[in-house]
Amino acid sequence: MHYELIPAHNPGPYTGAGNNTYLLNGKSPVLIDAGTGDSRHVTGVADALIQSPSTSLTKVLVTHGHADHASGISALMTRWPEVVAAKMPWPERDDRYSVFWTPIADGDLIPAGDTTLQAVHTPGHAPDHLCFLDSTSGVLFTGDLVVGGSTVMIPASSGGDLVAYLASLQRVLSLKPTRLLPAHGPAIDDPVTLVRHYLDHRQSREDQILAAIRAGVDTVDRLVSHVYKLLDPQLIPAARESVLAHLKKLRVEERIQTDANRWTST
Ligand SMILES: [Zn+2]
Repeated sequence: MHYELIPAHNPGPYTGAGNNTYLLNGKSPVLIDAGTGDSRHVTGVADALIQSPSTSLTKVLVTHGHADHASGISALMTRWPEVVAAKMPWPERDDRYSVFWTPIADGDLIPAGDTTLQAVHTPGHAPDHLCFLDSTSGVLFTGDLVVGGSTVMIPASSGGDLVAYLASLQRVLSLKPTRLLPAHGPAIDDPVTLVRHYLDHRQSREDQILAAIRAGVDTVDRLVSHVYKLLDPQLIPAARESVLAHLKKLRVEERIQTDANRWTST
């Protein structure tokens, strides 16, 4: 399976060096993720297509509805009016983009380049999150399920769900991928080590939060400053979301309870 990384040219505090999008060239050129509409991204896709037997983009597969993955769809449709925009539905988020999204469901097989990709529903970072597996090579396009060189934000108050996220990581392990291609950061050639590290990281964070609650640390803000010492103020909103994601999981498991924004163990 041949793919080419086309950078989206959108560096920032939440996107690192900027998003990776991936072009699968061949019979039916397909782009994974839409970027944000930067003209250098659209030109990058067009330049890569020149080397393809078919120089028109046929489809854009969007891993999830966050703006850095989806908002570039209008610019791509302006450049290639026939292109099909496809993603798993997330109705309240999809309405932000003035295009028709062709729905993708878990398990769908999608011709892409000279291969076929399988859609793998992997909610947790976002409810509509999809990975795309090339089962011949074992390459998995992971969107934001993993981030090369970092951990993943679970936006607990806007569609994030830690229980679902952990199940998605387990599901990816069971697929035995050989290589992960994330939307941020470098490729990962030892998927098992990284995913196990992610699972261990969440478990130790949970242990830390539970211990703090048992010791009487009882609000989200106090938990944030307890768990993340010396945190960059810019990152506090993300840290709050992450703590909240753990609290919601622990509440579902009936290990903690909440009353008027105070959290206590059961
Ligand atoms: Zn995202």
